[in-house]
Amino acid sequence: MEHPENSKEYEGLQVNAGVDHQEIVNPYLNRMRKKRTRLFTPAEYVDGILKGDVTMLSQAVTLVESTLPDHQQIAQEVIEKCLPFSGNSVRLGISGVPGAGKSTSIDSFGIHVLEKYGGKLAVLAIDPSSEKTKGSILGDKTRMERLSIHPKSFIRPSPTAGSLGGVARKTRETIILCEAAGYDKIFVETVGVGQSETACHSMVDFFLLIQLAGTGDELQGIKRGIMEIADGIAINKADGSNIDKAELAASHFRNALHLFPVPDSGIVPEVVCYSGFYDLNVDKVMKMVFDFVDKTKESGYFQYRRNEQSKYWMYESINEHLRNKFYFNPTIREQLPEMEKMVLGGQMTSFIAANRLLEDFYEQLKK
Ligand code: GDP
Repeated sequence: MEHPENSKEYEGLQVNAGVDHQEIVNPYLNRMRKKRTRLFTPAEYVDGILKGDVTMLSQAVTLVESTLPDHQQIAQEVIEKCLPFSGNSVRLGISGVPGAGKSTSIDSFGIHVLEKYGGKLAVLAIDPSSEKTKGSILGDKTRMERLSIHPKSFIRPSPTAGSLGGVARKTRETIILCEAAGYDKIFVETVGVGQSETACHSMVDFFLLIQLAGTGDELQGIKRGIMEIADGIAINKADGSNIDKAELAASHFRNALHLFPVPDSGIVPEVVCYSGFYDLNVDKVMKMVFDFVDKTKESGYFQYRRNEQSKYWMYESINEHLRNKFYFNPTIREQLPEMEKMVLGGQMTSFIAANRLLEDFYEQLKK
């Protein structure tokens, strides 16, 4: 007998035979995995992207973000083939310190833009810090409640691998794919710390700086030189009892902006107060952006800026490539710590150490 409790002595007690344990790992997992990572040919990706197929677009973006050489090879071919179909969009950069209300605002801006101007919207991000935290914070779907379920929006968090230059390059390449897929409004979100703003500025037609009233940010912005690259300033959380403070901050900004030379665009940046959370004056902020685009298209600055950006990215790509080739060279990797020690110990100057390493590198290239 299987269970002694089932013997007659224990009347009224019945113990079932029990069932086998489920496997802990889903037996179909591997099959599912294989299916998901199946690679298509570049032509298949391009075809899917041009048809506006979101799954194909997402998979192609994953290849753009991948560091595997065969993924990169396909990605580069896809980008090249998509290039002729790209460019026809308004690219808006949105920056602000954490807590400024970027994601809340992007949700409101996005819904407004889709309702008023139509088309399709892609939200991308540049977040170099996410490499450390191993999770992208920016461009996170859960933070954009309405946009994340909107059929005309595509949200993609920041690429995580690599240097700021690498992360930014991938975002720029993703812009090309999104445009080829018919997304004619592109938002690029970036966090207002460090160099990421400059990278974001170098790929957008309008760079919007989100600020808060009364946090001393206004001065910080001026100090850090971000005001110079802003095409417009939007003061968020101008709601409830905060409206007066926001207006006061706006006038401070306007005064400060007059101290700067007129930007290349020929348009002095506007300062607008709004509330992303309560949807107040969101239309004004977006009008500022689209008016700027119209004016600069007329003046020729729009195209000039895009050309300058293409040039900038050509040099950036060269720099990134050279840097990687140098630092990933096995001999250089071996020598670097030794040289560093000698420089720190005062046995060698920085310049001599750098020259030696570079000479060694050139020698190896000759082989
Ligand atoms: P992010 O870090 O810049 O993306 O900022 P979030 O969008 O996550 O917003 C940070 C906090 O500010 C959240 O608690 C929001 O609810 C709040 N917030 C965002 N926009 C507004 C606004 O327009 N008014 C008010 N009162 N609060 C806001």
